[in-house]
Amino acid sequence: MKKKTQSISLRSFLFLALSVFLFACSKEKAVTEVQPESDKLVSYLETLGFKKENVQLKGDTYIIDGDVLITKAELAKRAAAADKSDGSPDTEHWRGTYIISNTYNSNVRLYIDPAVPAAWRTAIQGAVANWNAINGTRLGMSIVTSQANSDTRVFMGFESASWIARAYLPSSNRRPGVSIEINSNYNSLAASQKLFAITHELGHTIGFYHTNQNQGVFIQGTPSVDANSVMNSFVLPWNGFTAGDVLATQILYPQ
Ligand SMILES: [Zn+2]
Repeated sequence: MKKKTQSISLRSFLFLALSVFLFACSKEKAVTEVQPESDKLVSYLETLGFKKENVQLKGDTYIIDGDVLITKAELAKRAAAADKSDGSPDTEHWRGTYIISNTYNSNVRLYIDPAVPAAWRTAIQGAVANWNAINGTRLGMSIVTSQANSDTRVFMGFESASWIARAYLPSSNRRPGVSIEINSNYNSLAASQKLFAITHELGHTIGFYHTNQNQGVFIQGTPSVDANSVMNSFVLPWNGFTAGDVLATQILYPQ
């Protein structure tokens, strides 16, 4: 989930110039820190439609498009599995290789770290309510008070960069993404944008990719253009799910 600081549209050049200026102090040039031994894994990501220049390696974790996290070990497992099997699309919104199994998808349990400020906590509660309000899906989420009994941990981080929050995708054992990190650099974001951002990150936790990028597996039957989708990679004020968001969720997690 990012602040919109760049665009390829010439029409919005003026706006772009202005917003780059406005956010210049918090914008960090994307640095590709991919190591040579990781080339194979990056190539695998390229086969999934990701752009090499948008993949960073930090420690043992790959950061894709600024806010999608996956560990090196997990990626290696997926690359190995892809060698063996299909890759054939079973569904077209965009989803990752793995979605959450029925063991976990009716109650994704979130633990909120005590250091998360009240305004973000409110956004997390609102985001959980947003996903729970979608009809015609078995998907469910709850907030729990014990980290040991949780699936996904929400915690604060800080980086002077343009990402607001970032999240892990479901793992190859089909459990929910393990964490959501919120960048305290954006603590002053408007409440409705916080709500959009966390609803978006929870979308990654359950297996969605970005609707404004052609990556992953397209979810058949969903609109090819959905500018207000919650899975757009740039934050908007929260204005509810689009019909495409709802449909994509119903397709991924039918009742
Ligand atoms: Zn995202």
